[in-house]
Amino acid sequence: MIFDFDLFVIGGGSGGVRAARMAAATGARVGIAEEYRYGGTCVIRGCVPKKQFVYASRFHGEFEDAKGFGWDVGEPSFNWPKLVAAKDKEISRLSQIYLTNLEMSGVTPFKDRAVVTGPQEIRLVNEGRVISAKTILVAVGGAPFKPEIEGTEYGITSNEAFDLKELPSSVVVIGGGYIAVEFASIFNGLGVKTTLAYRGDAVLRGFDQDMRDGLTDALRERGVDVQLGASPQKIEKRDDRFLLTYEDGSSVETGLVMFATGRKPLTEGLGLEEAGVKLGRGGKIEVDEFSQTSVASIYAVGDVTDRVNLTPIAIREGAAFVETVFNNVPTAVDHSQIPTAVFSEPEIGTVGLSEADAITEHGGVDVYKSQFNPMKNTISGRMERMIMKVIVDAKSDRVVGVHIMGPDAGEIVQAIGIAIKMGATKADFDATVALHPSAGEELVTMREKFSSSGV
Ligand code: NDP
Repeated sequence: MIFDFDLFVIGGGSGGVRAARMAAATGARVGIAEEYRYGGTCVIRGCVPKKQFVYASRFHGEFEDAKGFGWDVGEPSFNWPKLVAAKDKEISRLSQIYLTNLEMSGVTPFKDRAVVTGPQEIRLVNEGRVISAKTILVAVGGAPFKPEIEGTEYGITSNEAFDLKELPSSVVVIGGGYIAVEFASIFNGLGVKTTLAYRGDAVLRGFDQDMRDGLTDALRERGVDVQLGASPQKIEKRDDRFLLTYEDGSSVETGLVMFATGRKPLTEGLGLEEAGVKLGRGGKIEVDEFSQTSVASIYAVGDVTDRVNLTPIAIREGAAFVETVFNNVPTAVDHSQIPTAVFSEPEIGTVGLSEADAITEHGGVDVYKSQFNPMKNTISGRMERMIMKVIVDAKSDRVVGVHIMGPDAGEIVQAIGIAIKMGATKADFDATVALHPSAGEELVTMREKFSSSGV
């Protein structure tokens, strides 16, 4: 049978675009459909604009710290519309680059919503055109999820947070994950009275406990009102403000409520189940290690599969899919030892296992931990701990987890991630000469065990 395309990709985000371009490079005829803007969540309303906002918000602390170093910066003022306009310009530029790169790679892009109408067939919804493809790759990502409480429609999500017409005077951010702590830090840094309302007992569930406790304390020190054990029950509109009531009956009035309560795969109405594709919890597409779904001709990568929802992972999964299907080299993505950063203020960088997970996986672990006030703070007068933690498998001496909270944590962890991936031992860390003066040198100068557990 002759197909219109060898590969049709649904979704022009990180995973879909990488797969489309790499498949085209093998000589395959590739089409791709994107209903919104090329670049996907990461470029349009995720990592990229978020990081720009993080940079903007951190000047606040820098201006405060500058005073200790002799600077008089007066009363700094901040212009929100100017930041939003600059961000919009940059993401338009990046989105255009994504589209241009697709075209230059020989991929045929469609600006339309595509739905699956069969194992080897899709339909472009607006154009109405039906297209056949030997292989279909679903890379539609996810979207913010809001809990179904009374008045949930009054709360925004990260999608809208990027384009607010004006900054509110106060905000309550609901949730305790990546997006919640990042946006709480952004709003707080930009001068908004910020409350973080989380139902658990320390933010960032799943992270190492020292990072969770450390960040909870540090957010409070920075001025965020962190409310723990706080589950939202309803939101009522009061003129141009909102009354948020928690399950314990207490309430708070605020200028804005933002839900950062997780994300859901965007599979609704995509025709997947009708085509025989098995969906899992929350609508995620079930795939095997090669990203193949229960229908042999349909694959899926990225957040829509809800494996590890990070841009570099979607990119890897897209590339591995092309290796498997178009280069005949079955390639599975290794989802272990992934370096990741939370761009809160202070920042967290982490790679490998938390102490609790390391004990479960390895039994006995040795923990090396250092907490100190970074050098810059001595003159600036800021009191904020930097925490570094190295977790070592007691039997093999291998470093199985590194967790850092403090300035440049993400940058440090990206580099240390190479060592972890190579199987570095604590002895290798000890043999590495310190780079002085730096914060990172603590990682190679910790000689005293803080604790041994699980032995
Ligand atoms: P997360 O899953 O990280 O966090 C969701 C938070 O919402 C949790 O604290 C959860 O609580 C809470 N929550 C869930 N349901 C409810 C509810 N009904 N009522 C109250 N609270 C609720 O999701 P995010 O939206 O923060 O981020 C989505 C994903 O995007 C992340 O997992 C990450 O992979 C990715 N991401 C990565 C970033 C980075 O690399 N820097 C930045 C932003 C996002 P509980 O813990 O109790 O379940």
